[in-house]
Order: sequence, then C-alpha cells, then structure tokens
Amino acid sequence: MEQQRVCLVVEDNDDIRGLISVVLSRAGFVVRAVGTGAEGIAAAADPAIALVTLDLGLPDMDGHVVARAIRALSTAPLLFLTARSEEDDVLAGMASGAAGYLTKPFHPKELTDLAVQLCPAAVPAEPAPPRTDTSLC
Ligand code: CA
Repeated sequence: MEQQRVCLVVEDNDDIRGLISVVLSRAGFVVRAVGTGAEGIAAAADPAIALVTLDLGLPDMDGHVVARAIRALSTAPLLFLTARSEEDDVLAGMASGAAGYLTKPFHPKELTDLAVQLCPAAVPAEPAPPRTDTSLC
C-alpha cells in the first residue's frame, strides 16, 4: 500500500480553507486543515506531513513566526498563501523558509500546480496502459 501524503493546511478563513482542502484532496493529498497558527505548529510535528500551506494572515500569531516554528519541526516544503502582494512580504516569506507562495486570490490550478511541483510524489499514478504484447503477432 502506498504511503499517504499528508498536507497540513493552516488557514483561518473557512471558505478558503475549504477550497484549499478540496483542491489538494483532488491533487492526491490527505488534508489536515487547522484554523490557527498554534494548531498549525502543533500539527506540524507529525512526520507524515509532506507539504504545508500556510496563510500568513492568521488571527493568533504572525505568519512568519508560525513559519519558523513549523520549519524547526518539519522538513516538508512550506507554501505560503498570502493576501499581501508586497515584494517585502514575499522576500520575508522566503527568509522564513517558504518553498513557494501564492497571492490570494489564486486560481485552484495554480495551487495544484505548485503543490505538485513542491511535492511530486503526491501525483496519483496514472493507471498502467493496457499491455500490448506484439511478440505473439
Ligand atoms: Ca487569513
């Protein structure tokens, strides 16, 4: 049995969290979604987590503090989702250990593409093509 690829989603907005969860589930991840930085940090210690998406605008903690705490606990690539498009924030995000980022609003396909790029093994295997054995012809 194939090992499950778990994505931790840290996002306080219910609608966006739901959307991210659906998109990543379709991309082949098992999604664990939480709504606060504290919960995200607590959940990040699980070695099964293969990818983390982190909203930088969280109600309880600064997103960059959460990022560094997760970085200390997990080697999973960190994907920032931010409503802020300022270059400074992007650069600060990279300094906090982000492997990539998306600026909201984003298209679901952008999220899928980035998640699969950061975590290639999450791509569900294509069903093997029907075997055509021409040696008997
Ligand atoms: Ca937010």
